[in-house]
Amino acid sequence: MKIKKLLVANRSEIALRIMRSAREMGIETVAVFSEADCNAPFVRFADEAVHIGASSPSDSYLRIDKVIDAALLVQADAIHPGYGFLSENADFADAVNGAGMIFIGPSAESIKIMGDKLAAKRAVSKYNVPLVPGTTEAIIDREEARKVADSIGYPVLIKASAGGGGKGMRVVQSADEINEQMDRAVSEAKSAFGNGSVFIEKYITSPKHIEVQVLGDQHGNRIHLSERDCSIQRRHQKVIEEAPSAVLKEDLRKRIGETALLVAKSCRYYNAGTVEFIVNEKLDFYFLEMNTRLQVEHPVTEMITGIDLVKEQIKIAQGQVLELNQDDIIISGHSIEIRVYAEDPSNNFLPNVGKLNSYKLPLGPGVRVDDGFEEGMEIPINYDPMIAKLITHGCDRSEAIERMKRAISEYEITGVKTTLPFAAFAVSHEEFVSGRFNTHFIENYFSPSLLNEKMDHDELVISSLVAALHYDKTKPSNDVSGSSTSKSKWKQRLTDS
Ligand code: ADP
Repeated sequence: MKIKKLLVANRSEIALRIMRSAREMGIETVAVFSEADCNAPFVRFADEAVHIGASSPSDSYLRIDKVIDAALLVQADAIHPGYGFLSENADFADAVNGAGMIFIGPSAESIKIMGDKLAAKRAVSKYNVPLVPGTTEAIIDREEARKVADSIGYPVLIKASAGGGGKGMRVVQSADEINEQMDRAVSEAKSAFGNGSVFIEKYITSPKHIEVQVLGDQHGNRIHLSERDCSIQRRHQKVIEEAPSAVLKEDLRKRIGETALLVAKSCRYYNAGTVEFIVNEKLDFYFLEMNTRLQVEHPVTEMITGIDLVKEQIKIAQGQVLELNQDDIIISGHSIEIRVYAEDPSNNFLPNVGKLNSYKLPLGPGVRVDDGFEEGMEIPINYDPMIAKLITHGCDRSEAIERMKRAISEYEITGVKTTLPFAAFAVSHEEFVSGRFNTHFIENYFSPSLLNEKMDHDELVISSLVAALHYDKTKPSNDVSGSSTSKSKWKQRLTDS
């Protein structure tokens, strides 16, 4: 069935990104929005918009009933859940289908299996997919936990079965820590996910996080779109991603891709999904989990394959046969994404929401920004403080890195502190440039003082330039905007004078 009107059950950059592809396909778009988002660009972009409640996600974006009512009100024939919020909620997928609309995603059944890490492990183990050594059953009891951990060998990782977003994970270095960490993990899992079941697996000490993008139609055809390396993480959450991985050779790329397809097959997966692996120093890979939705970092795959993943999702949901074969997937160049957060990297990445006093995007060759904000807007405190995703594409990795550095220096954001200085530090670091980095990059190489030292230096330069400008009678003094990105202009003026 051809979709004519699509409701996007999400907000900010991802809502906008999905609507853009829908519009290119001639599909009408509908936004749902909370109080805090009433003026947001994604609401104004949509052909229609429905207010669904107060700012708190539990009053709006997480309300299945309100989203379904809004869709029925505007007579939408499909709903795209984006990522986060209701995107991996099997009840929501069921409710959308039950109301006679198309859910842009996999079946509720696939969501259920892959939403439970233990169920996922059990499903894929029938297909000889390599798993991190550990349990495939839930553990609650301390004694049993100790036995299992002893047999696996320390360090081990306790994980919440219903986990997500890096929450509910505890590293146990030795037997004398197991009781305490077990208690913490169970209580964290209960409070975060309402389900205290945990499991234990070997803790891989210096891993890379590599994930494979898969696409499947409802007729049993599946392909993969190669991998992304998402090893630059903070508290098990990705902050910089790239495609392809700098360390995978063709043979390994093929094997990991084929394994991802087995994972998809194990739950009869269709639509777009991501199979995550953890890769040790010897490049042995193990299945971690499958995310049954569009991923935040999907643009890097789009940049290297030239495939619009949202359009593919919509076509698949309409029941179309996948037009692409595995051989059609050709990797072209290299792409990097940084997540730009309203957080202060010099102060433990503390959220720094407020008003975007100035907001100017980087432009030029190979630069893409997926964002949901405009100059003068307030960043609401109710949601994740991500402002944008800055993505670059180059003919090879080094061009993508140089473009990223250039784009970061062009990106002008004032009024809130952002993670841009951290990203500039990271992509310039020799460990990142070498491609060898693992998930401990930030703890191993980053310290806020590195930014502070740099800032102190910049501040010194700025104050001397301000002093110089003070004597420049030809220009009005209000040229000194206080914007750190105006620095280069001041330098120019100094050389001129
Ligand atoms: P979540 O669903 O909370 O995102 P994942 O299982 O996807 O949890 O893991 C998130 C991150 O935690 C991984 O990318 C990796 O950095 C780390 N991690 C997970 N499992 C292991 C492990 N067995 N050993 C070492 N690190 C791990």
